[in-house]
Amino acid sequence: MNKTGIKWTDKTWNPVTGCQKVSEGCKYCYASTLAERFSGGKAYPNGFAMTLHPERLNQPKNLVKSQRIFVNSMSDVFWSAIPRSFVDQMFDVMEATPHLTYQILTKRPEAMLSYSRRRRFTKNIWVGVTVESQAVADRLDVLREVQTDGYRFVSAEPLLSPLAVDWSGLDWVITGGESGEHLMDATIRQSRALVTLANCRWTPRIDRIPWIRAIRDASKASKLAFFHKQWGGVINNIAGNELDGRIWEEYPYDAMARM
Ligand code: SF4
Repeated sequence: MNKTGIKWTDKTWNPVTGCQKVSEGCKYCYASTLAERFSGGKAYPNGFAMTLHPERLNQPKNLVKSQRIFVNSMSDVFWSAIPRSFVDQMFDVMEATPHLTYQILTKRPEAMLSYSRRRRFTKNIWVGVTVESQAVADRLDVLREVQTDGYRFVSAEPLLSPLAVDWSGLDWVITGGESGEHLMDATIRQSRALVTLANCRWTPRIDRIPWIRAIRDASKASKLAFFHKQWGGVINNIAGNELDGRIWEEYPYDAMARM
């Protein structure tokens, strides 16, 4: 397991690596870039092709302290290429370690829903979907149907359009802008980024700040916790994550954040 710079979690756990792109938010997938860069090495022997790492399955059992774990940050738990029996083993471990909080994020909510109907998710498992644009907002309707005792969350990263959605029945929203070296290209930056580059400084775009502000205001009106992870840029967090003079890093278990 690895420590991570992803602000809303503590560690990543990757019993599976590799994935297949499904929507516009995947276009510059960091997992794909990383796996292809180190393809053939120990961590990514098959590049971004589906690879099981059974030796990693029991790693969480060594963690004594309560913490948040992002599951399959280098894949998607509900990708159909992953054998169901292997996914079952992952859930066996999650259920056997209730002192740990698992965060599962998917762009394949129908498969998540179907799995939950067979095996309801326990309280220590938070389930989320990525909604990077209005075009895929119907993922939220599926998430609301998922059978779970834990929190439901949304990752609006990389945010590629304004979002006007129904936030009811959800607990937590994370926002963030695209990041990566491809943003050095001004055309890509103009079409996908929440930031601008001027005089070697990366700063939030005047025309994109209202997108994040609107998500914050609408989600908080529905009593979700709000976490603005980053504005994005050539490297993670280079433009920070301040919005309207403060840092928004709420979690769904914070009662004050849900008022
Ligand atoms: S679903 Fe996630 S891991 Fe898979 S290609 Fe898309 S962004 Fe990458």
